[in-house]
Amino acid sequence: MTGLCDRFGRRITYLRVSVTDKCNLRCVYCMPEEGVVPRSHDEILRVEEIVRVVRVATALGIDKIRITGGEPLVRKGIIDLVRMVAALPGVRDLSMTTNATLLMRYARDLAKAGLRRVNISLDTLRPDVYAKITRRGDIRAALEGIAAAEVAGLRPLRLNAVVVRGMNDGEIEDLARLTLTHAWDVRFIEFMPFWGNGGSLGPWQVVPIEEIRRRVVDLGPEPCSACQPPGGAGPATYLRLPGAMGRVGFISREGDGFCVRCNRLRLTADGKLLPCLLAGLELDLRGALRGGASDDDIAALIRKAVALKPESGAVRDDGGACSRRGVPPPLSDIGG
Ligand code: SAM
Ligand code: SF4
Repeated sequence: MTGLCDRFGRRITYLRVSVTDKCNLRCVYCMPEEGVVPRSHDEILRVEEIVRVVRVATALGIDKIRITGGEPLVRKGIIDLVRMVAALPGVRDLSMTTNATLLMRYARDLAKAGLRRVNISLDTLRPDVYAKITRRGDIRAALEGIAAAEVAGLRPLRLNAVVVRGMNDGEIEDLARLTLTHAWDVRFIEFMPFWGNGGSLGPWQVVPIEEIRRRVVDLGPEPCSACQPPGGAGPATYLRLPGAMGRVGFISREGDGFCVRCNRLRLTADGKLLPCLLAGLELDLRGALRGGASDDDIAALIRKAVALKPESGAVRDDGGACSRRGVPPPLSDIGG
C-alpha cells in the first residue's frame, strides 16, 4: 500500500501545522492571563521550512493540511505561507483553525491564496461572556470575521465551542440552534482541564461530552444520513436538529473512536513533529532542517513519527530518539 500507515493499520493523511505560539486572545481554557513566554524568532520555523516539511509530507501521502496556532492570523507572512502550501501538488484540502477576530482583514486574501475553509472558535453568543472567556476579545470582531469568511467562500464553515461549566454551559442549546438558520457545523469540544490554562480553571468545570450531547438530544434531533461518525477521519460525531441547515458535532477528549480513527500528525511552531496529541512524544524536525538534512532525511523522520504513533493517547514510553514532553503542552503551543 502506498502512503503512510501506522502499526495499527491507520492511514495517516493529515498534518496540522502550528505556525505561531502567539495569540491576540487569552482564552481561559487555553492560556494563562499573561500569555505564554513567546519563543524567539529564531526558534520558530521559517515559512520556507514549513513549506518544505509540508512538501515532503505530501510526497509521502499526506493530502490534508490544517494551519493553526496560537492564532495563525497573527503570524507575519501568513498569506504567503497559505499561497505556497496551497500550490503544492499533493495538497488536496487546506484549511485553518482561527478565532476569526482578524478574518475581516484577511478572509478575501486567504481565499485567493488557496485556503479552502476555516474552523472558527466561538464559545458564546454573549458579548460579556466572550470578553470573560477570551479575557480581551470583542465578539463583534469574531462575528464580523465569520461573516467575512462566508462572503469569501471559506466553506463549509465550522464553529468550535469549548464548553466550560459556570461560563458558557448555559448556551449549549442556543449555539446548537445556530444550525437551524446557518449551514454550519457547530461542534462542542469537551474542555480539557490540564491543558495550559495556567491553573485558572479546575476539573470541576469539565462538562462531559455525554451531558452536552444529552442536552442537544433533548432538542429532538432527526434521523440524518450525513451524521454517522465519518469512519476513517475526524474526531467528531454529529446530530441534526429538525429542518436544520447544518449539523451539531461533539468532540470528546477520548472515546467516540477518537484514537481509533486518528489519521494525523502535528507540527509545532518550533518545529517538533508530534505523533500524538496526548502521548507527549516529539521528534526534532527543526534541528534536522537546520542541520543540513536532505528531503529523504525529513521523510525518514516523518515515517518515524508515524511508526511511533501509539494505539491511544495513554502516555507510554516509546523511547528511541523520541524525547518526551511529560505533561501535554498547551494547545496554543501545539495547535489544538
Ligand atoms: N487560535 C485558534 C483558535 O482558537 O481557533 C487556533 C488555535 S486553538 C489552540 C485550537 C483549538 O483548541 C480551539 O478550537 C480551542 O477552542 C481549542 N482548545 C484550546 N484549549 C483547549 C482546552 N483546554 N480544552 C479543549 N479545547 C481547547
Ligand atoms: Fe488564542 Fe485560540 Fe488559545 Fe483562544 S484558543 S487563547 S484564540 S490560541
